[in-house]
Amino acid sequence: MNLHEYQAKEIFARYGIPVPEGRLAESPDAARQAAKALGGRVVVKAQVHAGGRGKAGGVRLVDTADAAADAAKKMLGTRLVTPQTGPEGLPVNAVWVEKPSAIERELYVSGLVDRARERLVFMASAAGGMDIEAVAAQTPEKIKPITIHPAAGLQPHQTRQLGFFLGLNKSQMEPFSRILLGLYRLVLELDASLVEINPLIVTAEGQVLALDAKLNFDDNALFRQRAIAGLRDPSQEDERERKAKENDLNYVTLDGDIGCMVNGAGLAMATMDIIKLHGGRPANFLDVGGGATKERVTEAFKLITSSAGVNAILVNIFGGIVRCDLIAEGIMAAVREVGLKIPVVARLQGTNMEQGRDLLKNSGLKIHPAADLTEAARTVVAAARGT
Ligand code: GDP
Ligand code: MN
Repeated sequence: MNLHEYQAKEIFARYGIPVPEGRLAESPDAARQAAKALGGRVVVKAQVHAGGRGKAGGVRLVDTADAAADAAKKMLGTRLVTPQTGPEGLPVNAVWVEKPSAIERELYVSGLVDRARERLVFMASAAGGMDIEAVAAQTPEKIKPITIHPAAGLQPHQTRQLGFFLGLNKSQMEPFSRILLGLYRLVLELDASLVEINPLIVTAEGQVLALDAKLNFDDNALFRQRAIAGLRDPSQEDERERKAKENDLNYVTLDGDIGCMVNGAGLAMATMDIIKLHGGRPANFLDVGGGATKERVTEAFKLITSSAGVNAILVNIFGGIVRCDLIAEGIMAAVREVGLKIPVVARLQGTNMEQGRDLLKNSGLKIHPAADLTEAARTVVAAARGT
């Protein structure tokens, strides 16, 4: 689960990590009042669950309270498209109005769970404020990682090591160490899976300050992090993924053009692999689960067809617990209900598969039964290309 910048900054402050003073505003007038209270000259920042706002017009430095209201008016109620959001963007329902900082240096700091090392890893770079993925790809030596031993915890010599790497002076070292130790405590106590400050700035006065704040949490730990769970903002989540969750479907949006409906996560992974192998691109991952019913198959179809750019659908069901003839009926009902225009390739394997295939074959609908997975993948890739 993600938080907004303003929520993350409130948590930062509780952990002794210095952040600029600011206020939340949900209307242009509230932004004006906030700017007045902060001294007029402020930064107005769109609150969306994505970075890259600076380049997208979602971060504006203004000189007066009226200009702050104006900036807020331009952002609120729109959808902000950044390199991290996808083409539809994310809705801006609030802006964070903040006292401006005089930036001398923009640094980068993050901490995350490194699954390969089975440890927490903290990282720092002097190349902050920019696209850190590009830095990691082109000049990885500019990012220094340290691995934290779970028994020892983050050690002061490690924070100093990162501080030296960043070229901090003596008076900046102590506040920097406190920030890292605060982040570390935050990760442990709140079950965060990622903390990122980009940029962590050194101001003209030599202060070290978190100018941006990103926090991700482990969904599996939310049951014991009620306060964090309460900060969830569904407006920032993928609507299809949310609907899927409500229907107990395991669904992830991807950027290809072949919709997939599969039972079982492992089979779904294998299905995506085989589509790729035959030159196609999956539009989603969808696991309808072992107990796929007619109703859930219908919901699944609605989900798949509601995403733009799906040119064909591959149904890959193994009838172990579930019967293939029931699935076939579900597919037919869904196709009739949704009024499907695009071709569907169905591979049904297992209990009552012959009956299932016969039902599809005689349905008069645009559904092509396939005997095995390879044939199914080839057929659906060709169908998506319109050949
Ligand atoms: P992001 O683009 O979504 O990551 O948003 P950030 O909060 O990181 O802001 C983007 C950029 O805006 C920063 O890297 C800064 O260069 C600039 N910026 C943000 N706040 C201030 C500020 O208070 N003063 C100045 N001078 N620049 C700022
Ligand atoms: Mn940032």
